[in-house]
Amino acid sequence: MAIPQGITLDDIHEAAARLDAGASHPFGEPRKYQAVIHGTRYPPKALVGLAARRVLGHDLTPGDFSSGVGPNQAVAVLQSLGVEIVEIGHADPRFPPAAWIFQGNPDHFDIDGYLASTTQITWLANQHRQLMAKGQTVYLWRNSGRGGAIAGVVAVGVIEGDAESRPDHSPAVPYWKDPMVAAAPAFRVPIRVVEVATAKQVLKSKWLEEDPVCHDLPNLRMRQQTNYLVTSSHADRLARLWAKTGRDFDRSDLLLTLAAYAETFGQEVSKLHGSPVSNTALLAGRAVTSIYSKVMNFRALDPRVPGMGQPNTGQPTKDIWNEFWTGSDIDTGALAAAIGSAMEPGTTPASQEALESEVEHTAPEYSAEGRKRLVIHFRIERNRKVVADAKAKWFNANPNLPCCVCGMSFRETYGDIGEGYIEAHHTEPIATLDLPKVPVMDDLVPVCSNCHRMLHRSGSPDHRTLEARLQARSLLDQRHTDPDA
Ligand SMILES: [Zn+2]
Repeated sequence: MAIPQGITLDDIHEAAARLDAGASHPFGEPRKYQAVIHGTRYPPKALVGLAARRVLGHDLTPGDFSSGVGPNQAVAVLQSLGVEIVEIGHADPRFPPAAWIFQGNPDHFDIDGYLASTTQITWLANQHRQLMAKGQTVYLWRNSGRGGAIAGVVAVGVIEGDAESRPDHSPAVPYWKDPMVAAAPAFRVPIRVVEVATAKQVLKSKWLEEDPVCHDLPNLRMRQQTNYLVTSSHADRLARLWAKTGRDFDRSDLLLTLAAYAETFGQEVSKLHGSPVSNTALLAGRAVTSIYSKVMNFRALDPRVPGMGQPNTGQPTKDIWNEFWTGSDIDTGALAAAIGSAMEPGTTPASQEALESEVEHTAPEYSAEGRKRLVIHFRIERNRKVVADAKAKWFNANPNLPCCVCGMSFRETYGDIGEGYIEAHHTEPIATLDLPKVPVMDDLVPVCSNCHRMLHRSGSPDHRTLEARLQARSLLDQRHTDPDA
């Protein structure tokens, strides 16, 4: 059995009401997507399974149909009815978005022509329009379309006002392939274009697909929407990539890449996440493939491996090579020192007040070495983004934000001023990590300030050990105070 034809939005709302009332059903927890109705999240498959009752006379069961985005699967059916779909673990629609990706298809609309003609544009607001607000950053993404254009980010803009239902404004009209689309009222949001990429500066989709942070951008995973919320981690990475794409390597980029070359000398050069090339791409704010090419340029300059690598590099790359080439080896000590001094002042970890306390405690140990300092700096920046994402996820699961060790909730204990407050603890201590692991949300647990301090004093980052300790003590207390025990 498949999903029957004829399910309406009313049927979906009816199903949501049944789920609200606690209706039992055989559907499991969703793994990838959730449906949002009036601000509440629902499992898409259960919603559709229960909504089928009016048409069929009975609910569907999990084996009857699939939950996915393909034709006549649950998510696709919900989307076709206008139900908002969000990805689990991605930007939460109840929090202000870090940034947007707005997608366009050159088969329907000449994006390049439009962007060349004006900086005041409008874009269709088909998803999440209630979250769009003045001042938010938008990355404009061009799909490849049938013409095979290079897909990726082609411009950056800022939202100028609210989305309104109206025909498209006149500057856009000539660029629509179908004039009927331009004339039809639809929700459109005004955007001021800040920068349009040259051909060299397009942030290519294929780079983002292999990027250690952006590989799971929502539009790469669920391709048919127009408006995507991106997480703060994605937004941060996109901003850095956008700032550097198509621009020449500067001195610190070249130093970092030479360090990656030194690290991979004599080995196959990998582009995989966690490899020196990938880590350097994160540090330098550049695409993995561009760091890889530059590593290959250095290889071509290395007289130890004649005839290898990619020749034809520019003078700045040769200058850096000559600066650190001793005649028999790369002077990695001098290179580390140079990387250290290329680091901008004011970016040392201790100057950033929003840091996690464990980072503050452990960071100075790394300050001796240039590259390590940069790596740690990067880790901290990234850390802040991951912490913000983790807190949003915890809030979504339980707005009381209880401590995972003692159960204390700042909201329940302190009222208003405790609302939304919790600290994030790294279960993997940064001090013991070798270079450089990018933190992920799963490494974080929510803890109250007391438990957080005690975790660091205990010498074990494992929150379960502290929890066991706390339980043992409370048992002991009961024995002391309860004469019958
Ligand atoms: Zn606690």
